Amino acid sequence: MHRCGVNVIRGSFFLTLVREFISSIYMTKVKDLIENWGTERFEILNTRISDFNLRIGNTLLKKYIDRLYRELNQKGIRFKPKCYLSNEWGCTDGVPTIGIPFYLSDEDIAAIEEEITGDLEDESEIMYLLRHETGHAINYAYRLYRDKEWRKIFGPISKPYREKYRKYRPSRRYVRTKDMNAQKHPDEDFAETFAVWLTPKSNWQKKYRKWGAYKKLLYIDKTMKKMAKKRPIVKGDEFDRPVEELDYTLLKYYQRRGYEIEDLRKEAHGYFDDDLIEIFEPVGKKENFSATKFIKKHQRKLIKNVSHWTGEWELVVRPIVEKFIKRTKELELGLNPKKELQSLVELTALITTVVMNFSYTGRFTLSE
Ligand SMILES: [Zn+2]
Repeated sequence: MHRCGVNVIRGSFFLTLVREFISSIYMTKVKDLIENWGTERFEILNTRISDFNLRIGNTLLKKYIDRLYRELNQKGIRFKPKCYLSNEWGCTDGVPTIGIPFYLSDEDIAAIEEEITGDLEDESEIMYLLRHETGHAINYAYRLYRDKEWRKIFGPISKPYREKYRKYRPSRRYVRTKDMNAQKHPDEDFAETFAVWLTPKSNWQKKYRKWGAYKKLLYIDKTMKKMAKKRPIVKGDEFDRPVEELDYTLLKYYQRRGYEIEDLRKEAHGYFDDDLIEIFEPVGKKENFSATKFIKKHQRKLIKNVSHWTGEWELVVRPIVEKFIKRTKELELGLNPKKELQSLVELTALITTVVMNFSYTGRFTLSE
């Protein structure tokens, strides 16, 4: 009898170990499905750009802008162009402000930009582009393009742009840059030449001495010395397409740029936002209450019942319900008190389906 008792204890201890081992495997699998980058990336992609609340604030970008301002100070230039987040690099015609692509202000969005386009500006490219746009900004701020000598050296500002994707032959009449942008238009020529002139240790006096572009650099050097302490004629207070006004999703942003991103949906194994949006509605309306509180209120019963009827462990159901709580909060979803019962039925059906998918296929979503 005594020995038997020991065996029973040993047996149950062994079973507990096995159960714990299996449950830890399950937990890892469920967590991997729910918390992977593919899911997070798709959630980010389905967010409206204006809802990211992006700011230049204290980002790395701010350090680059500060560096640009220091470079302008070193040249004694009083004018500092205002920088803001926009959908692309740019300085609107005639307005001395610099638009910087919003993705450079956020690590996750920058990672997505690199994954989708295969190209993300590094430090030296960002500094070059900031100097280039500053060239445009200074040109507009002091209306330099109206100067007779400017027109003689660079050409008329009214000249049409040359074909966008035309391949240019290297020419010593223009400063040498990666894209040879200077050849597109007099305004671009000025901005590119200005960028070379502003770059610390660019050694332009020596490097370009025998080039046709040298007289352009000399003109900029002379003009900037003259303008350095002057107040700009045109103030930069207008922002073209600021990030706060980009009220479309990041997904749309890439589609508009011609990128095919449907494949990314397949890697979003724990993406439920579309389903949750179908069940709930924006919390915004006065009578609505928070969907997050609603799920929390029923959390225990939902887990218990779905686990019972699907025959799946609670530890599989729980992370799904927790994920729904997190996402409804993030998406600011709510529901009308009159629809409480209907929402509960729909929510239970959704959780059950997701759990059943997992039981049969090891995945939550079956969109592939
Ligand atoms: Zn330009």
